[in-house]
Amino acid sequence: MSWHVLGAGSLGSLWATRLFRAGVPVQLVLRNPQRLAAYLQAGGLTLVEQGQSERYAIAASDLSDPAPIARLLLACKAYDAVEAIAAVAHRLAPEAEVILLQNGLGSQDEVAQQLPGRRCLPASSTEGAFRDGDWRVVFAGQGHTWIGDPIDVTPPTWLSDLQRGQIPHTWSPDILGRLWRKLALNCAINPLTVLHSCRNGELVRHSDEVEALCAELVALLIGSGQAEAARDLRHEVWRVIEATAANYSSMYQDVASARRTEISYLLGYACAAAEQAALQLPHLQAVHQRLLAHLDRHGLPRH
Ligand code: NAP
Repeated sequence: MSWHVLGAGSLGSLWATRLFRAGVPVQLVLRNPQRLAAYLQAGGLTLVEQGQSERYAIAASDLSDPAPIARLLLACKAYDAVEAIAAVAHRLAPEAEVILLQNGLGSQDEVAQQLPGRRCLPASSTEGAFRDGDWRVVFAGQGHTWIGDPIDVTPPTWLSDLQRGQIPHTWSPDILGRLWRKLALNCAINPLTVLHSCRNGELVRHSDEVEALCAELVALLIGSGQAEAARDLRHEVWRVIEATAANYSSMYQDVASARRTEISYLLGYACAAAEQAALQLPHLQAVHQRLLAHLDRHGLPRH
């Protein structure tokens, strides 16, 4: 059974190339005939790994292709997920499974609502990749991917494909807890790096703000029924800041490159969840407002 990978961006390409070179059937679903023509012209997807680049001529089609899809890796940004899935929903076989690579929270529910009866499996990844050109992906950081299903804890049979492709992964019976934990880490670090225009490690100079956010995020996780994800959050935030001290956060990089951020699915989601749980989290809300104002000043979308 073939994998369809929608979105030949950084993570989508990283998955598609590793599956393809391991002999797992895979094909790309590209945005439109123009993107498909450009891809065919390039002759495939190039993976750059440890300084070596290799091109893989993976089959591709565009969204208008009518062929049915049984297994879909949705590899676009969170803010594109609903529109992208709407474009292929009619092609999904009744027993189709959809793996969701989006960061943050919120998009997974939006997608699942459009696909009643289909199995939707959110993933959370610490792998790092970026594009250094069209149809080229650089594997920048080894990492791990957790995959789960909030409704059914039975592992899917296709995990063996990931094994074959040497995609490090773990089946997670508590994928929502993982996504919440990652969201909390992101909310404690990324917005402050944008507001202070600094690397992660420089947040030690703003430790009062980090501490205040950690305390509120713990309250938010507990108030949202995610007590496990709240455990030792503060320690992990400081551990991540130390371990990634020289890095610029993904949100910092998005703003610096004038790219749309995933704010609605990160800090925006956290603030909405706080309101829903009737929690007053003034620091979180203030950072959200400051970040929105910052995006306004840079002419970037607020959502
Ligand atoms: P990306 O490089 O921007 O790639 C997204 C891809 O989706 C683009 O190729 C885009 O196509 C495609 N796309 C969007 N809408 C589409 C549509 N309607 N039809 C077809 N293709 C469509 O993004 P990314 O960095 O891979 O990130 C994907 C998700 O993974 C995000 O939520 C991100 O936060 C998460 N993540 C990324 C990393 C990483 O290291 N990159 C790590 C962990 C998590 P075009 O090229 O035509 O615009």
